Amino acid sequence: MSENAVFPGDKLASIEEYEAGFNTFDDGDMVRAATVGESVLDKETRTASIKHPKMLSIPRVGDIVIGTVAAVMSSMIAVSIDYINGKPTTSKVECVCSTRNMRIRNVALVNDIVTLKIISHLNGTIHAVIDEPHLGVLYTKCRKCGGKVITMRDAIKCTECSWIDERKLSTNFGHMDFINLSD
Ligand SMILES: [Zn+2]
Repeated sequence: MSENAVFPGDKLASIEEYEAGFNTFDDGDMVRAATVGESVLDKETRTASIKHPKMLSIPRVGDIVIGTVAAVMSSMIAVSIDYINGKPTTSKVECVCSTRNMRIRNVALVNDIVTLKIISHLNGTIHAVIDEPHLGVLYTKCRKCGGKVITMRDAIKCTECSWIDERKLSTNFGHMDFINLSD
């Protein structure tokens, strides 16, 4: 990496001097990197941006994303983003989503496919929410046996072992035909 190499959250410039360009965000004070890459300060357009070989696409506040749950922690999930507003992205940007106030046993499991709404970029982390009707799990499996599940009101039931569980289901659960899953 060159000496201009930056990591997510790194300061690029003051917002008084530069505007946030590609793959950056402003935190109200500084323009910061939203991704790994090489910082480029364009003195003519007064924009600070990050150049990346793959041109990473970073979701913006208000975007609806679809991704794969990469990790489940006690009060949040981390999701690797696969689609931004319905368009595929290969950049594998992650966002986090708080599950702290949700009265659901298993909001989502690792490898579940979920749809989230981006609400903020904070300290280099992209934050999303899951607590709206159309947001939530689009695809999941049985936690016990990995079998196919069907919905029962707000719960899900395994068609193999009959285990009943909970998820924060999207109203689009089971309607995955708009995405071509590789598996
Ligand atoms: Zn099962």
